[in-house]
Order: sequence, then C-alpha cells, then structure tokens
Amino acid sequence: MTLDELIQKVETARLKRSEHLIVQIVAVTKYTEDIEPLKRLYNDGQRAFGENRVQVMEEKVNALKDYPIEWHFIGNLQKNKINKLLSLNPFLIQSINSYELAEAINKRAKKPVRCLLEINSAKEETKHGIQPEIAVETYLKIKENLKNINLQGVMTIGAHSDDEEEIRESFRLTYEIFDKLKSYGAKICSMGMSSDFEIAIEEGSNMIRVGSALLSSYL
Ligand SMILES: *Cc1c(COP(=O)(O)O)cnc(C)c1O
Repeated sequence: MTLDELIQKVETARLKRSEHLIVQIVAVTKYTEDIEPLKRLYNDGQRAFGENRVQVMEEKVNALKDYPIEWHFIGNLQKNKINKLLSLNPFLIQSINSYELAEAINKRAKKPVRCLLEINSAKEETKHGIQPEIAVETYLKIKENLKNINLQGVMTIGAHSDDEEEIRESFRLTYEIFDKLKSYGAKICSMGMSSDFEIAIEEGSNMIRVGSALLSSYL
C-alpha cells in the first residue's frame, strides 16, 4: 500500500483507541538494497526509516546524507557493530534487548543516545528482548546506571500467531509495561508491523514499524 493508504488505516485504528493518540510511522526498508524506493517514500512525505543491519544502514545513510531522514535501528545489535552504528548517529536505537548490550553501548557512546528497551512480550524463544517480568526493573536499572543510554520507552514484536487474541495479548502486556514507565519519562511505545499494526494501535502503540506492506508500492 502507499503511504497515504497506510496513513488512512492508521487514522481509523487510532480513532478506535483515542482521538488524542498520535502514531508515528517508521518505514522499514530492510527488504531493498536499492535507495530509489526510499527516495520515493521521502517524496511522499516519509521521514523516519528503519533498518536492522548496521552495514546496510551505513550504505543508505551515506547515499541519502543530503536528506533530513531519521534513522531507526531495529535489529539485533552485535557488540562489534556498536561503534559503527554510533558513528551513523541513529535517531533511535529501538532494540536494546539486554542490560549487557545497554552497558556496552553506554561505554562506547560519547553522548547520550536515544534508545528503546525491547520486550519479548510473546515469550518466544526465537525472539530477542527482555522478559516482561523483569522489564520495569531492567529499564530503571539502565536509567539509573547508564548515563549515555537515554531511554525513551519500549519496543516489541507481536506474537507470531494466526490467533488475533494472542497477538493482542502481547501488545497489551507491552502497553502495561509502558504505562508503568510513563512516570519515569517513557514516551514511545513502538509496536505493530505490516500484519498487525492496526491491533497494536488499538492497544495503544504510538509508533509502528511497517516494512513489506508499504515497501511493495515503492519498489
Ligand atoms: C522487519 C521488521 C519490521 C517490519 O516488518 P514487516 O512485517 O515487513 O512490516 C518491524 N520491526 C522489526 C524489528 C523488524 O525486524
């Protein structure tokens, strides 16, 4: 679908939740190495782009350095790629999936970096992220001890399931954690992808990361 079509769908979903809910769209561009689709998205008004590999992100950042784009890192970050990622000056690292990773970034960063804590809300072994039971304490521990990690909220990938209720449950659980963290400054609740962004928004998401469904119209 085009960006306009996506915005229409987001609009319908957000009004089901609250007319005050503002939802940001991150266009996930990991499915193409070509930058022309990104330029077309930019020309349609898209400004936030997400990538899950540092190397690929670097190529795109360099190719589009004259464009005022917000780059979001959404993948599993290897420790040996931290310096490279930081040098790209990402707008937001969405995938802090362990205290150890936060420590490693904290040590290498020369200034505070905006980050989200990734929650393994579906408790799937194949997924990265902090277990929901220890999410709040881990968030607060990072906030307390790691001054270069500027936590802005949480991120999750919904349950991998055909059962809508199960997907909804994983978003609900993440929103509950987000809600508890609001009084500690959490602002972003990043959840929802191509197949489930409407459910995520109904459960309170204010940032969706949409790849395949959007990109197909721009390739
Ligand atoms: C790939 C990816 C997305 C986008 O997925 P689509 O289903 O293509 O919309 C969103 N978030 C993360 C963390 C991803 O890895």
